[in-house]
Amino acid sequence: MSPLRPGATIGILGGGQLGRMMATAAAQLGFDVLIYSPEDDPPAGRVATGAFQADWDDAEALSEFARACDVVTLEFENVPVASVEVIEAAGKRVLPGAKSLSVSQDRLTEKTFLNAHGIATAPFREIEAASDIPAALESLGGKGVLKTRREGYDGKGQAWVHDPAEAESAWQKIGAVPAILEGAIAFACEISVLVARSQTGATISWAPPRNEHENGILARSTVPSGLARAIEDEARRKAMHLADALGHIGVLALEFFVLPDGTLLANEFAPRVHNSGHWTPEACQTGQFEQHIRCVAGWPLGDTHRLFDAEMLNLIGEAGYVDPAKLGKNDVLTLYGKREARPGRKMGHITRRLAPRKD
Ligand code: AMP
Repeated sequence: MSPLRPGATIGILGGGQLGRMMATAAAQLGFDVLIYSPEDDPPAGRVATGAFQADWDDAEALSEFARACDVVTLEFENVPVASVEVIEAAGKRVLPGAKSLSVSQDRLTEKTFLNAHGIATAPFREIEAASDIPAALESLGGKGVLKTRREGYDGKGQAWVHDPAEAESAWQKIGAVPAILEGAIAFACEISVLVARSQTGATISWAPPRNEHENGILARSTVPSGLARAIEDEARRKAMHLADALGHIGVLALEFFVLPDGTLLANEFAPRVHNSGHWTPEACQTGQFEQHIRCVAGWPLGDTHRLFDAEMLNLIGEAGYVDPAKLGKNDVLTLYGKREARPGRKMGHITRRLAPRKD
């Protein structure tokens, strides 16, 4: 695709905070942005040129949206593949591409794909009924986490299993749907790698943040991670290899468990910009949102050099009603414009520049 010219229109499927920050970055590069979301008054719609409110299966609305855009991307990986096909049938590209979407939408397909490309994961077993759980649990060492194959996020659709007697209750807890049982990993820490792949197939990654979760939701990301350079480099190579294997275009995030001996086990990937990369706009030469828009627009990649040590703190639920008077002088606040705080809802984040990078 020849590079998009300023003034062209980028469509974004999904209207949450990721779309909002992408739209802001796109506007800075001179693009117009249209949001497509089933939600009324989505956070991204309020910073974009316009918004379509329609369901994912509304082929007429999707076609109209496609006609109004020069290229389409997404901020939400559970966009149905059928909706993407409607847009493509209307003659517009949807980036990152169907492969990245279809692989990431199903945990079984995702982990099988990672393993097939030499990226080790936690051991897992396919679960089609509660009665599959006891034998799978035993083969995984007696402790595991049941995860729905589709549509889980932020710890939703998951249940820990410590005993075969818990099989039925765990199965009911995740909604009695096709699942995987994953062995429990006694990790030393969690990291993620954000990688971008351009339309010419060039890849670049950012320094991997160390991620801490609370109640299954990301609470804090920190750079540098404190891990040995060799471990970070290996994680970055794996993420770049994954982006190549998917033929991905745009930003992708690959999450890892790091074992006490430094072994890396991939957990999952998101075929989009990611919460653990929210520190990049303030701490790096090019942030993840600008980089993603560059990829989608067919522009060259920006440099990802990290300029600051930094931490990113998520503002969840009531914490989103942050008092600006209490911000430190190095705190950069981003609020997502959500009308109402609910428990577990991501309302914003603070990126704290700790010190200029020294190494
Ligand atoms: P996920 O939605 O798969 O990213 O899981 C959310 C969080 O739950 C992860 O970031 C881990 O902190 C924890 N978790 C998920 N799977 C496992 C596992 N197999 N072993 C230990 N902790 C896990």
